Amino acid sequence: MAKVLIIGAGGVGQVVTHKCAQLPEVFSEIVLASRTESKCKAIAEQIQKTQQRTIETAQVDADNVPELVELINQVKPFMVINVALPYQDLTIMDACLETGVHYLDTANYEPLDTAKFEYKWQWAYQEKFEKAGLMALLGSGFDPGATNMFTAYAAKHYFDEIHTLDIIDVNGGDHGYPFATNFNPEINIREVTAECRHWEDGGFVTTPAMSLNQSFTCPDGVGEYNIYRMYHEELESLTKHYPTLQKAQFWMSFGDSYLKHLEVLGNVGMTGIEPINFNGTEIVPIQFLKELLPDPSTLGPRTKGKTCIGCVVQGIKDGKEKSVYVYQIKDHQDCYGEVQSQAISYTTGVPAMIGAKMMVEGTWLKPGVWNMEQLDPDPFMDDMNRYGLPWKVMEDPAFKLI
Ligand code: NDP
Repeated sequence: MAKVLIIGAGGVGQVVTHKCAQLPEVFSEIVLASRTESKCKAIAEQIQKTQQRTIETAQVDADNVPELVELINQVKPFMVINVALPYQDLTIMDACLETGVHYLDTANYEPLDTAKFEYKWQWAYQEKFEKAGLMALLGSGFDPGATNMFTAYAAKHYFDEIHTLDIIDVNGGDHGYPFATNFNPEINIREVTAECRHWEDGGFVTTPAMSLNQSFTCPDGVGEYNIYRMYHEELESLTKHYPTLQKAQFWMSFGDSYLKHLEVLGNVGMTGIEPINFNGTEIVPIQFLKELLPDPSTLGPRTKGKTCIGCVVQGIKDGKEKSVYVYQIKDHQDCYGEVQSQAISYTTGVPAMIGAKMMVEGTWLKPGVWNMEQLDPDPFMDDMNRYGLPWKVMEDPAFKLI
C-alpha cells in the first residue's frame, strides 16, 4: 500500500489516475498535480462519480525544481508517476533525488529546442539514483513500454538469440476530424517529422522522414493499413540491451488525410520548433498549431475502431530460425466506456500504472535508472492481461515484412 504523486493531467494522466484508483489495495492514496489544477479537479470528480474514491489535487510547475521539491515534501509519496511532457523529465528526476522518492515516466527527455529522442540525458542519472538507493523506471507506456516487454518476453521464452525486431503500431481508430493527433500534438508532430533512423549491422542508419512504407494486415479482423518506418525511442535501449539484434525498425500507421495535412503544415512552416517574431511577440509555430488542434483528451467519445500494436521478433531457437509476433488489440470505445478516454491514452496509462505497481509491490524495485527490458517481463505481462491489455502470441506468422 503506497501513496503516489501523479504529475500531468492530460490524456494519459486521466487514465493512470483512473487505473490507480481502481486498485486501492496497491495505491492507497493518490495525489494528482499539474500546471492547470482545474484539469486535475475534473479528473478527480470523474473518479468520485464512477468509483466513489477521493483523489487529492495540487497545482505545480514541473519545470521548476524548488516548486516540485516543496510539493513532494508536502505530499510525501512513495514515488512520482511523471505523465507531464518529456521536457519535464529531468526537473522531476532532480526533485525526486532531492526528496528521496522513486520515479517513473513514459517518454524520454527531450530538450525544447531539439527533437532528439535520446536516452543519454536520463542514463546519465544512473549513478545518482543508485547511490541514493532510488529507482527510476523509464518509458513505462505502450511504445515505449509494452513494446519493450513484448520484445523481452519473446527473447526470454521463444529464442536463444534474437536477430531482427519490427515494432508495428497501428491505430485503426477514426475520430472524424480531418486532422487531429491522438496524444500531445506538439510531441506527436515532432516525432513524426523527425528524420527516420533504424538499426542495421551495428549502427543507426538515417533516411528521410516517411520515406519507406508497406501494407500490413492486422490480425483478428482489425484490417489492412499503410505503415511507415520512423524512429522511435525504444530502438535505442532495445538495441543496446539486445546486442545480437542485426536489424531493428519501428513502423506506424498513418491515414492519407493525416499525411496530407502534415505535409502542407510542414511546407508552410507551421510545424517548426524555432521561435519566430509575430507582431513583437516570440511564438513557436508548433506550439501555436497545438492551440488550434483538437485537445486529444476530448477525442474519446468520437473515436471508433481499434489499435493493434505489437512486435515481430526473428531469431534462433535450438539452431533453427523462427519468428514470433506478440501483439495487443484495444477497442477505442471500450476504453471510453471504462475511463472516458480513447485507446492511445489508455494503452499508455495502463502500463504506467502497472510499472508503478511493480515498484510499489517490490517486484521490480531496485536502485538505478532502468529501461523496461532490463526487468523481468513475466509479472508485467501477467498484469497486462489482468488490467485491460490482453495480448496474444502468434508463432511463425505467415506475413513477411520489408
Ligand atoms: P497532454 O498534453 O494531454 O498532457 C500533458 C499534461 O502535462 C497536461 O496536463 C499539462 O498541463 C501538463 N504539463 C505540461 N507542462 C507542465 C509543467 N511545466 N508543469 C506541470 N504540468 C505540465 O499529453 P499526454 O497525456 O498525451 O501525454 C503525456 C505524456 O505521455 C507525454 O510525455 C507523452 O510523450 C507520453 N506518451 C507516451 C506514450 C507511450 O506509449 N510511451 C504514448 C502517448 C504519450 P496543461 O493542462 O496545463 O497543459
